[in-house]
Amino acid sequence: MSDPASTPSNQVPGPADRLRIVLVGTQHPGNIGSAARAMKTMGLSRLVLVAPEKAPSVESYALAAGADDVLAGAATCATLAEAVADCRLVLGCTARSRRVALEELLPRDAAARAVGEAAAGAEVALVFGRERTGLSNDELQLCHASVHIPANPDYSSLNLAAAVQVLSYELRLAVLAVAGQATGPDAEGGEGGPERREPPASHSEMEGFFAQLGDTLDAIDFHKGRAPESAMRKLRRLYLRAGLDSREVRILRGILADAQRMASLARKGD
Ligand code: SAH
Repeated sequence: MSDPASTPSNQVPGPADRLRIVLVGTQHPGNIGSAARAMKTMGLSRLVLVAPEKAPSVESYALAAGADDVLAGAATCATLAEAVADCRLVLGCTARSRRVALEELLPRDAAARAVGEAAAGAEVALVFGRERTGLSNDELQLCHASVHIPANPDYSSLNLAAAVQVLSYELRLAVLAVAGQATGPDAEGGEGGPERREPPASHSEMEGFFAQLGDTLDAIDFHKGRAPESAMRKLRRLYLRAGLDSREVRILRGILADAQRMASLARKGD
């Protein structure tokens, strides 16, 4: 597999180079080609395929038109978790609202957030689902927020590549806006530049935290016989919304470790 985090070597890396488009379980190879074309028109080049039903084919290359380079450079991963492991922001695009309690963003707000994070040095993924069934709830659980194109509510499902085009266009506008700020008259010495802070926590740091949170809640008997899934879903949503950085995750994990230690001492004292 090629590295999903790699950037084209002949360009100075900018925010667009830290944005990846992830297609999960794509069923029609033609859509992979059309998505590559949609991306390239908007200055995006990093395509990741998660377990496509069929590998890119002659049909994909035909529909990619001049975007063969994007298609040829596409990485392939076995799972979505693998495809986004190094990402600090993962946004899942959905044709309809799901029961998964995720914050839902409009494409414009999603693009602003994605490009803001990428401009601050973070890896960002926009994830698209299968033509027939979209993203599974488990896959959406790996996302920090969902993105919905506010289409006709009676007919809201766009073709996969058309959805990639809409999001890529919004990303393009956001990239151009950031570039305009960087080269505009106030670029140097002005106030109000981006606040320097620790990098946002990576996807795997957050998953490590959630695993420890689950163990701790068990250890302190938080669930009292209730199924833990519902509470964990709500807690995931809360912590993902908070946009924690690596240091904050370390502090929270320190608190959990102490709670686990106290619970084990209390058990010994019984
Ligand atoms: N029947 C599927 C539709 C899948 S369309 C379903 O109901 O989920 C394939 C993919 O295109 C979706 O998984 C999503 O990533 C993207 N997509 C299609 N329409 C969209 C919309 N209105 N908003 C956001 N993403 C959309």
